[in-house]
Amino acid sequence: MTNETPIQHCRNCQYPLPEGANFCPNCSQRNHDGRLSFREMVAETVATLFNLDNRIFNTLRSLAIPGKLTSDYFNGIHNRYYHPVRLFFVAAAFSSPCFPSRWMVTARGL
Ligand SMILES: [Zn+2]
Repeated sequence: MTNETPIQHCRNCQYPLPEGANFCPNCSQRNHDGRLSFREMVAETVATLFNLDNRIFNTLRSLAIPGKLTSDYFNGIHNRYYHPVRLFFVAAAFSSPCFPSRWMVTARGL
């Protein structure tokens, strides 16, 4: 379920929208009233953080060669690699079950 409210013109570029258009044919912006449901916000956050595409494999391959990812990044080669902030969050999400926090260790009485 979405908050679709059809409007006559694109709010982004003012291009006249055809009847029932979900996206602007000029700028591709979604024909949407701008309100987001909680479900849409969660889905967008997950999709933004964990949108794993081919760049994650290029990044992981370059991480196997010491200094390659860093030197490429500082030489301006960004597009083939995963964004560093996303990489941080993905690495944190996947590694956190491997390293339980001190609170979890204390709660278990270990
Ligand atoms: Zn538009």
